[in-house]
Amino acid sequence: MPDEIKKQEPVIKLKMATGENVDYVTSAILSGLRPPPDMTISQWAEKFRIISGASSSSPGQWSNERTPYLVEIMDQLSPQSPATDVVFMKGAQVGGTECLINTALYYIMHDPCPIGLFQTTEMTAKRFIKQRMNTAFAAMKMDEIFTGAEMYLREFPGGVMITGWSNSASNLRSMPIRIALCDEISEWAKDCEGQGDPCSLVEARTVTFARKKRFWNSTPGIEGECRVTERFRRGDQRFYNVPCPHCGELHTWKWENLFWDRDAEGNHMPWTVRMKCPHCGEEYGEYRKPELMNHGVWIATNPNGAYPSYHLSGLYAPLGAGLSWADAVSQFVNAQGDINLLKAFTNNVLGEPWNIEGGMQIDKFGLISRCEEYESEVPEGPAILTAGVDTQDDRLECEIVGWGAGLESWGIAHKVFVGDPSQPAVWDALDAALTAPYCLSDGSEMHVAATLIDSGGHHTDDVYRFTAKREWRNVFACAGHSGAGRQIVTRPQRTKKSALRNATVVSVGVDSAKDQLYDWLTKETPCPGFCHFPVRDGYDEEFFAQLTAEKRVRKWVRGIQQWAYKKTRERNEALDTRVYSRAALNLVGVDVDKMIASGRKFTRNVSVPAMRQRIQRHTISGGIKL
Ligand SMILES: [Zn+2]
Repeated sequence: MPDEIKKQEPVIKLKMATGENVDYVTSAILSGLRPPPDMTISQWAEKFRIISGASSSSPGQWSNERTPYLVEIMDQLSPQSPATDVVFMKGAQVGGTECLINTALYYIMHDPCPIGLFQTTEMTAKRFIKQRMNTAFAAMKMDEIFTGAEMYLREFPGGVMITGWSNSASNLRSMPIRIALCDEISEWAKDCEGQGDPCSLVEARTVTFARKKRFWNSTPGIEGECRVTERFRRGDQRFYNVPCPHCGELHTWKWENLFWDRDAEGNHMPWTVRMKCPHCGEEYGEYRKPELMNHGVWIATNPNGAYPSYHLSGLYAPLGAGLSWADAVSQFVNAQGDINLLKAFTNNVLGEPWNIEGGMQIDKFGLISRCEEYESEVPEGPAILTAGVDTQDDRLECEIVGWGAGLESWGIAHKVFVGDPSQPAVWDALDAALTAPYCLSDGSEMHVAATLIDSGGHHTDDVYRFTAKREWRNVFACAGHSGAGRQIVTRPQRTKKSALRNATVVSVGVDSAKDQLYDWLTKETPCPGFCHFPVRDGYDEEFFAQLTAEKRVRKWVRGIQQWAYKKTRERNEALDTRVYSRAALNLVGVDVDKMIASGRKFTRNVSVPAMRQRIQRHTISGGIKL
């Protein structure tokens, strides 16, 4: 460590004599409150805080040296600071929760008042009280100061600590509180039982107190809907700067300044990780962390922000406790190609919001978990069945989908026919599936009313040969076209090439169809557009991985911003077949809502010529002619 690196002055400038503070002093006197204790929270913690072995990997006496970046945050939460709101947007395992616990313990012991502790749900609240607060109370031998046995309401001399959670209005609205400690706010309910933003409800509870404090502590979530990101940006946006061991210049630890080696085969070697100084270009290893962090300083990048707000990535986690830089590299390498892991890496390691615009993707695991047992092969909901077929060099893939009111849909069958599409066998198998009856619970049958078959790839001619003979029963070749604003499907048209086979082709606006589908897939309870999936062969993890294989990204085309879909994995046939079966519905020309309203279903078997159909209809299905 060169000489020029001196221990920084404490950054917090307590404005005891400034105008801002006059109000606070006056109100404290007027309300007969005793003056605040001299000690700040960080000073108190250094002296008194004992960390329980039951809740931490590093039990014993609290040391500010381990997490020096928390000192200023704790001091802003102290009564000596004029700040009302303090925001901490952070990566995982950097000690935000301990900071929150220190604050709670400090006010209970040294400046008793009504304190509120707010978590996401009752479950997280209960877990927090049991695993974190109670163990802290026990380690500090504080148990005897509490009266009453209620878990969510602890009384102590001069004050009370209540616990609430973001989806219970009665919990958030009861008594006024002076100190509001809000944990993981990016996960909080969007709306609290119809009464609005739970953060606003918490704020409302504190208004009567002149010396109120509100701590907003959280790892971030999704950009644009992340509360802690929003609150961080409204603040003065402080970042923790450490000096370079080579040149002494202050800089923040950024992911893009971490470097590591690969071996001759290109394998990543996370253990070779080191930080590159953005000023002098020299590198240094993680073992320098404690010494550098202890000379660190918070620097505001938005000095006119409304309140102190802090950002700290997981790269600052104390050495030997929490994530190491090598762990971060491993996580990053493992997350490649998996959007969900990349989101977790961005939120938990970088402490940054996940940018949907950079990669909106549906969670396949969420979809798998809601597969249903239908009461019959085709459940009550659908009024009509359509099919979409994807053509590959060694197989055909087909999904049959049922459509109901508001285009609520039911996956009916997902089949893979293995075989060379230049040979008839695989087409025969497909045709059997397209002409087969699909049974309802009352024993009646439905048939596929329309089918679209992808004619892209190497088997365009084979597709035309198949569809040309079956267009009379709504089996058409299709070609997908990307681009915003396209119709989901056009009328069948002859192309030069298809005319040679006497076939027509429909054009499918795949981006429009995907926009609609990906919107539907985010719906979590049955409603217009909701997609039902069966517990059935073919609807396995691979199916859902394929269905969610693309993400919506923003791109620039000749200076104009556009949306586009980008594959996140190689195979995505399930997505294509779903898009084609959706497009096929428009070819039938029926109003599904009207059919549902009048209790009708499309039971006509389109593969039986109309004459025979008329005779059969009376005897077999009793279906309604459309
Ligand atoms: Zn340097």
